[in-house]
Amino acid sequence: MRTPYSQRQERLRKALRAAKADAFLTLHGPNVLYLCGFSGSSAALLVEPRGARLWTDSRYTFQAAEEVASAGVRIVKGSLLAAVGERLRKLSALHVGFEASRLTVQQLQLLRKAAGSKVRWQKVHSLLEAQRAVKEPGEIALMQKSAALGSQVFEDVLPLIRPGVREFELAAEIEYRMRRLGASGPAFETIVAFGERSALPHARPTQRRLRKNELVVLDLGAILRHYCCDLTRTVYFGRAPARIRGWYQAVLEAQTAARSALRPGVTAGQVDEAARSVLQKHRLGRFFTHSTGHGLGLEVHEDPSLAAGQQQKLQSFNVVTLEPGVYVQGVGGIRIEDDAVVTPGEARILTTARRELLEL
Ligand code: ZN
Ligand code: ZN
Repeated sequence: MRTPYSQRQERLRKALRAAKADAFLTLHGPNVLYLCGFSGSSAALLVEPRGARLWTDSRYTFQAAEEVASAGVRIVKGSLLAAVGERLRKLSALHVGFEASRLTVQQLQLLRKAAGSKVRWQKVHSLLEAQRAVKEPGEIALMQKSAALGSQVFEDVLPLIRPGVREFELAAEIEYRMRRLGASGPAFETIVAFGERSALPHARPTQRRLRKNELVVLDLGAILRHYCCDLTRTVYFGRAPARIRGWYQAVLEAQTAARSALRPGVTAGQVDEAARSVLQKHRLGRFFTHSTGHGLGLEVHEDPSLAAGQQQKLQSFNVVTLEPGVYVQGVGGIRIEDDAVVTPGEARILTTARRELLEL
């Protein structure tokens, strides 16, 4: 039977052959999940020239039997890596691709020892990441559901934005509501930042209480059936002064420009430039201190990265965030973030939360 997993393995084998490798080892949870459906926290997966093999431990005996159809499952008592090595000894003269950015030096040493000298270990850089960056229709359908959930949570917590509420209380309410709606948890630590703290792009929620006439930045991500969403909205508690409205409109215009630039064949850097040049035109360029967006999927940060100068060309069915912002120290910050699918036509936006400046 050709499951999405066996098709993914087949595509990977093709890429491996082009890279002069004939097997691929991963211990990275999202890659294991992508290639064979196993979602346990500890496993090794070897994609072989024919077939694939998964090693995990006895905590996952039933789960692996339930989740994995397109790899042979081995339940291991001792070291997973020793078991992988033993298998490699039996396969003849293999060039095994491994993920240099994901394997520790110690793990590689152990593998080399266990597999013996006939096996050649070959760094393969982002082979699988490139494959994962182009989403299948089934993946996009799941991401749409995840994005709808995140957008719903944003709307649901708006009434809780009241004087005296603390940042961490709001963060807790957001994560509680995600779970109530079926998420397995947050995709990252929820960001809630009031007033001048909103100028910190990655603010950690504190006990700071909300006062009248302040900016509120909410950046939230949920994981639904393994797929992440990532949504930021900035609202104003009170009536926004003209300067804040001006910044908000500029950030929204920058995001719209990025969205219009998002199409197959343009470089990731061009999309970043589209957003950045709008903020520069508004003399806000120096306040935009991060990149325009990042790939999204099984992980909250994936390929491609929409950063300045990135030469990587976008492809249909990449899913990326578009999240320009401005951050003015001592005053506050504004960020608007949505999740978008690259298509041959206009980019398709998955997040549905209201995008205009809300004054509460
Ligand atoms: Zn975010
Ligand atoms: Zn993001």
